[in-house]
Amino acid sequence: MFTVVLRVYNTLTRETEDFVPLKGNEVNMYVCGPTVYDHCHLGHARSYVSFDVIRRYLIYRGYHVNYVSNITDVDDKVIDRAKESDEDTFELSRKFTASFEEDMQALGVIDPDVRPKVTEHIKDIIDTVTRLIDNGAAYSTPKGNVYYDLNSSPEKIGILSHQTVEGLMEGSGCRVDVEDDKRYQLDFVLWKGSPEDEPGWDSPWGRGRPGWHIECSVMSMKYCSEQLDIHGGGLDLIFPHHEAEIHQSESCTGMHPFSKYWIHNGFLTIDKEKMSKSLGNFFTIKEVLAKFSPGTIRFFIVYTHYRSTIDFSEDALVEAGRARKRLLNTISNVKHAIYEAPDNDDECGISDLIDENRSAFVDSMDDDFNTREAIGNLFVFSRKVNSIIANEKPGKSSLENVLDFYSEINQVLGIFEDDSNSGSEEQDSRISDEDINELIKIREKARAEKDWVKADSIRDELQEKGIIIEDGKDGVRWRRESS
Ligand code: AMP
Ligand code: ZN
Repeated sequence: MFTVVLRVYNTLTRETEDFVPLKGNEVNMYVCGPTVYDHCHLGHARSYVSFDVIRRYLIYRGYHVNYVSNITDVDDKVIDRAKESDEDTFELSRKFTASFEEDMQALGVIDPDVRPKVTEHIKDIIDTVTRLIDNGAAYSTPKGNVYYDLNSSPEKIGILSHQTVEGLMEGSGCRVDVEDDKRYQLDFVLWKGSPEDEPGWDSPWGRGRPGWHIECSVMSMKYCSEQLDIHGGGLDLIFPHHEAEIHQSESCTGMHPFSKYWIHNGFLTIDKEKMSKSLGNFFTIKEVLAKFSPGTIRFFIVYTHYRSTIDFSEDALVEAGRARKRLLNTISNVKHAIYEAPDNDDECGISDLIDENRSAFVDSMDDDFNTREAIGNLFVFSRKVNSIIANEKPGKSSLENVLDFYSEINQVLGIFEDDSNSGSEEQDSRISDEDINELIKIREKARAEKDWVKADSIRDELQEKGIIIEDGKDGVRWRRESS
């Protein structure tokens, strides 16, 4: 089935490369998780749905994937938010971790194999920082801080961001502060001394807490391996976060590259600006779920290539919902046609159509996970299926194969989930198969009693809901309006 190799764009080399894992068909994949100081917004959903699809496709392709994604449950943002709202830091981070997990579940994002939290790995972090100091790659200061010493691995500065030192200094907004106890402007903190009124843990350098970057080196080493196959995150993490991880991990293990492939998702923007908490231009996942079904939100995200920008608007989501509904209507038509289909092997070209479309799906996904093209192919497939149902009489088993093919695709994209329980405004307008059959029965009775007014009003009511009725010599057939 897989004759061509999967190709992946690698930020490290800035090239699209053949995907060859470090060890056989084992894939160790690490994706940076959220900082849990508030409810997550749709930009976060973009990142985690994109990596969910990448993970699902790797599994579809036969790889054994070990997927790890952390939770940053202590850092400046969490502490500041707890102070602002006069809450306990850990209660606050627990609350927003639960909120994040709930959002991911609602969106059908499969749980990571491990979801480690920073606060549960303090000892591992202290051990790694100690190792870095012992290797001559880090230094402690009298203020109880520990910094990574970039002069110990200068050749790696800019390795992922592909920028010069001058460019990074300008972009990083670093200032040489008189108070600053760093040796070099771009050195980054591994351990930070905590003031009395903030959370802290005892360490060889005094009471303190981890810097942000170190957790991902520690968690990936502990739960994946010293070298990763794939490391993922949003574009904004390339520098300083992911470069810092490369310095830390490679200085610790002496192994290069820390990750063979670096994959970064593009931004979800509003009015061309990145959706983010700090800019205040965000919609939480919960707010969006109140209006749109999880399937539509996933469709909205996945109908764009993961590296391209998605500009958010309510209209764009409505449009995504409509496009997805066309595909759902075809699935519904196939289900309905199965009831009426003859119990024979007439396939009317369906097996060839499925084979062709499976190859097209794999070709698109092998091309750096091109979900946009994969869904485009699915529209073409669905149009052909509709035409076969309308004009020919395929047997039951061929139609069942069509449904199986949609499920196979859905295992990867997760866009056809049943949202009948989502309670979203969008979904309420969809009439169920049972209700359609019921209305058709009432209409049949009205026709038998020559109550044409009633019969026509039921037909109009169904038409308004996108249901087309055809009165044939074998009885009444109906289908949903589709592509
Ligand atoms: P944070 O909690 O800010 O560290 O973000 C967690 C993940 O979500 C990171 O990989 C970010 O790059 C990603 N992310 C945050 N905002 C957006 C956005 N607007 N578009 C795409 N990805 C985002
Ligand atoms: Zn990270």
